[in-house]
Amino acid sequence: MKTLRLILGDQLSRAVSALRGIDRANDVVLLAEVRDEATYVKKHRQKITLVLAAMRHFAQALRAEGLRVDYVSLDDENNTGRLKGEVGRALARHHSDRVVVAEPGEWRMRESMQTWAADFGVPVEIREDDRFLCSRADFARWTDGRKSLRMEYFYRHMRLQTGWLMNGDKPMGGRWNFDVENRKALPRNLSLPPRRRFEPDLITQTVIDLVERSFADHFGDLQSFGWAVTREDALAALQYFIADCLPQFGDYQDAMKSGEDWLFHATLSPYLNIGLLYPREVCEAALQAHQAGEASLHAVEGFIRQILGWREYVRGIYWQQMPAYRSTSFLSASRPLPGFYWTAETEMKCLRESIAATRRNAYAHHIQRLMITGNFALLAGLAPAEVEEWYLAVYADAFEWVELPNTHGMALFADGGLLGSKPYAASGAYIHRMSDYCAGCAYDPKIKLGPQACPFNYLYWHFLIVNEDRLKLNPRMAMPYRTLARMTAEHRQQIMRQSQEFLAKLEPYQVGD
Ligand SMILES: Cc1cc2nc3c(=O)[nH]c(=O)nc-3n(C[C@H](O)[C@H](O)[C@H](O)COP(=O)(O)OP(=O)(O)OC[C@H]3O[C@@H](n4cnc5c(N)ncnc54)[C@H](O)[C@@H]3O)c2cc1C
Ligand code: SF4
Repeated sequence: MKTLRLILGDQLSRAVSALRGIDRANDVVLLAEVRDEATYVKKHRQKITLVLAAMRHFAQALRAEGLRVDYVSLDDENNTGRLKGEVGRALARHHSDRVVVAEPGEWRMRESMQTWAADFGVPVEIREDDRFLCSRADFARWTDGRKSLRMEYFYRHMRLQTGWLMNGDKPMGGRWNFDVENRKALPRNLSLPPRRRFEPDLITQTVIDLVERSFADHFGDLQSFGWAVTREDALAALQYFIADCLPQFGDYQDAMKSGEDWLFHATLSPYLNIGLLYPREVCEAALQAHQAGEASLHAVEGFIRQILGWREYVRGIYWQQMPAYRSTSFLSASRPLPGFYWTAETEMKCLRESIAATRRNAYAHHIQRLMITGNFALLAGLAPAEVEEWYLAVYADAFEWVELPNTHGMALFADGGLLGSKPYAASGAYIHRMSDYCAGCAYDPKIKLGPQACPFNYLYWHFLIVNEDRLKLNPRMAMPYRTLARMTAEHRQQIMRQSQEFLAKLEPYQVGD
């Protein structure tokens, strides 16, 4: 049997199930750069470069190992621009009689693959993607019979399963979660580790030039590209994080600082999501640092929770809830995405900083995504589909299985609380406490109403007022609703008036902006 082994751009792992049992003499590995995947939402140019450069290096490594690789580049003159078209062409080229592929990370691609066997007239084996720490079947078993799903309980289950940071069946340090230790603002003079940059080699530079030519109208700076595109460099990035950032990761996980794009964050999500790193080895590296006394329990627990907990949890939710998940609209939010999400041109410094960083790096850290751009989208009632498209387009680590639950569920509460128990809505006080953004802003976080007032302040109360029927019975919203109940009718009216005036002035993006 001659098998075509298809590898997708986010499956660049030697241990991916599609390569298992490969017959070196007869099988061909297919990697295809297709325009559709870069344009179905217009991806940040660094994201396209990352994936294509990593694919080219991966193909080179497989060839060096003696595997037969068929590589279709974006500028190949017969490239159909669609994955299915390239699989069809490759089947004809190699006279293959079977396709093997690991399950894709996006529902739309999984759906499309279901028709391939009939369309091509050969068996198509879609194998489980077992690079994750919790299989889809195990997640389904965990959810079975539960009335409500909460990440915290899933995470405890996973800690018990892996034995990580456990003393028998008890969590190390007597607590499952050290989040209260992880909410410090950044001290003014703390020195921050520089970003670990990887200079583009010839292959990557060729891709940068290709992307520059082919996707000129896509969002994002390209010349500052410094992501790792090989497994070796991704491992170096992991080591750098463990040695230089992890010890302080927990303390400043929620902090934000003007002009500082990376702080103590791992910046490993693009590598995990395209397969250059495995979640297990990333967690084990952090556990080892703890055992060696190089990182505290609260730092390591905080980090492990993100990968063993959140990353696995959102994937489980995605596969369990799609495709209905995407169309839920609990808050009925419908306002178009303002143009400043693309241009960064806004008087609100927190948004300006977070969006400009996104444009520079195809990266913003979690608190910028959740509490700045996400919080604004929630408070302003932006349409989930438009916000989701933005998040899917602008980040190097964005793949729908992880982007959608984070945006739709965590940031926008559009799923009505399936993923998180309450909306992450916050006023300017939170941003002021966790960042230095407000110091250089046109608005004042201490002023509640009037021209100088921070828009997050009145939008926060406006959000609670317009969603009162939907949210006031949520036990975790009881406190703000009690405060709202004490407000005079006149104060409420002022909030409504100023919010409506502000929201009416938000301009959607116009071509040419
Ligand atoms: C609105 C919104 C959209 C997001 N979109 C994406 C996305 O498209 N792709 C993506 O990988 N993450 C996404 N996240 C989660 C998180 O913001 C990023 O994983 C994180 O910022 C990546 O940077 P880092 O590697 O420096 O992470 P760190 O803060 O250092 O965390 C370490 C690792 O934990 C994992 N992780 C942390 N939080 C989450 C989470 N909530 N969900 C899943 N994994 C998590 C990541 O793999 C990350 O590399 C989103 C969060 C929000 C609020
Ligand atoms: S004052 Fe308000 S708008 Fe300005 S940076 Fe602070 S939180 Fe953002």
